[in-house]
Amino acid sequence: MTNIRISKKEKEKIHNIIEALNREYGTENRCFLDHETPWQLLIATILSAQCTDERVNQVTAKLFVKYPSLEDFAYADIKELEKDIHSTGFYRNKAKNIIACALRLITDYGGEVPRDIEDLVSLAGVGRKTANVIRGNIYNEPSIVVDTHVKRVSNRLGITKEEDPVKIEFDLMKKLPMEQWIPYNIQIITHGRSICSARSPKCEQCFLRDYCTYGKQLYKDKRK
Ligand code: SF4
Repeated sequence: MTNIRISKKEKEKIHNIIEALNREYGTENRCFLDHETPWQLLIATILSAQCTDERVNQVTAKLFVKYPSLEDFAYADIKELEKDIHSTGFYRNKAKNIIACALRLITDYGGEVPRDIEDLVSLAGVGRKTANVIRGNIYNEPSIVVDTHVKRVSNRLGITKEEDPVKIEFDLMKKLPMEQWIPYNIQIITHGRSICSARSPKCEQCFLRDYCTYGKQLYKDKRK
């Protein structure tokens, strides 16, 4: 990764955004996916690809009762598991990955979910996004999860111009103070759901409008 220079103006803008986010949403850690154990969060996160957290929580409420242990997933009947997770979409791939992932956790990691990113991304169905969910939520390791909200809102705010999730993650890690990485995820997901939605951002009500590239441009255009 190349070193990037951050101008004084950009630093000031990011500082103002962080202050506003902390004021509005607080900095407490929270997880949007229901779980009781690390491996349950891993499975829930695999299921959350291209699916809403709300739907995943509906599915896992029954799934974790039917499959109460990691072994139950590792030795599950794939066709039955496919049926059980059908409504989360991409169910064939997800079922295959969940079984493979659960087996690896048992055989290579003694049934524990690893902490290192390299170990996590070596598991079936686990990319950097899922790995960072685990690191942030289970191990409290500073990490940035680039989901659809973090991508969209960070682009609109003008904090990053990158489009690729991995490049966005590295860009944000350079620009945001480390202690803000986990809160930023939670705050931006909350903001993306409530105010800065994909289809109709409510810029006129938004407390970030003064610092937001998209919001400022929108008002400039309206005044013309
Ligand atoms: S000003 Fe508009 S685009 Fe910018 S963060 Fe707020 S809602 Fe999103």
